[in-house]
Amino acid sequence: MAFGLFLGLLCLPLLQPRNSLLFLSLAVFAALIPDIDSPDSKLGRKVVPLSHIFKFVFGHRGFFHSIFFPVLMFAGVLGIAFYSQAGYVYAYAVLIGALSHIFIDAITIEGVNLLSPVSRFRVAGFIKTNSLMELAVFVFLTVSCVVILVGVWFS
Ligand SMILES: [Zn+2]
Repeated sequence: MAFGLFLGLLCLPLLQPRNSLLFLSLAVFAALIPDIDSPDSKLGRKVVPLSHIFKFVFGHRGFFHSIFFPVLMFAGVLGIAFYSQAGYVYAYAVLIGALSHIFIDAITIEGVNLLSPVSRFRVAGFIKTNSLMELAVFVFLTVSCVVILVGVWFS
């Protein structure tokens, strides 16, 4: 969520959505969605038994953590935005949020199957989940978000 917010904030000046709060909220929410394949996650706990079904069918960090899922979400929100006359820019918020989740998971030792279910191609990093390093990344992202927000607030 912190990385989704961070990337959303970085993209605000580029994409200039009419409603920045909606844009950032979508990015943060979309950052939760890939873990719908885990009944133990924030979102997964709220959508039991769906998360159990997704875990059984796709596996944790499978399709929902592949590059295909954010692209599919982007296309879906783009379609909704097109028909509802809302700004297509909000589809980018969803794309940014979902990609942020997959990127952050990809730098962990557990990694992600980036091309699931087409290929078993796996991307993994060096950060251990629930470690001091993970905490350091979280603190860095959170402080960066606060600095950017303060900068935006006073500009
Ligand atoms: Zn995940």
